[in-house]
Amino acid sequence: MRSVPTLLSPLLANIGLHGLENYIKSTNPKLGVVRYADDFIVTARDKGSLEKAQIQIQQWLSERGLNLSEEKTLITSMEDGFDFLGFNHRHYNGKLLIKPSKKKVLDFCKRIGREITAMNGSEQEAVIKRLNPILRGFSNYYKGVVSKETFGYIKSRTWRYLWSWAKRRHPNKNTKWVRKRYFKTINGNKWTFATTTSDRRGKQKDIILYPIAYTPIERHVKVKGEASPDDPSLQEYWEKRHQKYGKSHWEKNSRNYKIAQSQNWKCPICGEPLFNGEELNTHHIVPVAQGGQDDIENLQHLHHTCHKQEHSKTKSTRLK
Ligand SMILES: [Zn+2]
Repeated sequence: MRSVPTLLSPLLANIGLHGLENYIKSTNPKLGVVRYADDFIVTARDKGSLEKAQIQIQQWLSERGLNLSEEKTLITSMEDGFDFLGFNHRHYNGKLLIKPSKKKVLDFCKRIGREITAMNGSEQEAVIKRLNPILRGFSNYYKGVVSKETFGYIKSRTWRYLWSWAKRRHPNKNTKWVRKRYFKTINGNKWTFATTTSDRRGKQKDIILYPIAYTPIERHVKVKGEASPDDPSLQEYWEKRHQKYGKSHWEKNSRNYKIAQSQNWKCPICGEPLFNGEELNTHHIVPVAQGGQDDIENLQHLHHTCHKQEHSKTKSTRLK
């Protein structure tokens, strides 16, 4: 089986790594690069290419007064896997599987536990309203990857916290009573944490805990039979994901959305994806001072760094 080593590196300094992707690609077009803000992954067929890349990246960074985080930089094989932006990437029998990272899942469960404990004095409705957006947010972040098992695990951990919460509230009642008071059978699911309330018109309705275990998994990237050495499916996943999240950044068919679409969701200055974790600016191609208008044709979204660069260029041309 081929091993796919991966260089993984969050940086110490939190600054834009503008141009790093292009630089890495220019040193060796066979390398795969995924970057988000100051975290990045480099993939290659062999370990040697990565060792070489690491030296070159370090050099590139040093010229800009930066360093790779020694503690977080590592070269690993895809068989061992690695975490990136809360996701674990690993080959199982040569197939890339992306899952929620274990640390994120455990931290999330602890957070749910803290939220529930902090609501010992609250009504059930308040607890559900507090937890639902948190559970929904987590499932939205992870529903594009292999998460079914994770969602089931979170469901059972959450259930345990809620059960203790309910028992604590009624130390003198028996299990059956507590169950009846806080859990309903909804859609055949006997243990749904739910309560009934009436809306403004006095109509009765159920308020239900977000059923995280039933979150539909939406796979964005077809995983190929055998992952190829430079792992395009890994890169493809992240490209699609950033684009998808970018698309939901603006309302569909809004002006900003149309501008982004007309530039193919890429920054026209550096050619990198618009949504790579950097701050965005909207730029007037013909400056307002020179009569430039606010219409779509005259506007561009640029990374903040690229925008600054563009303006300093205009200044120096003007000086000439
Ligand atoms: Zn840019």
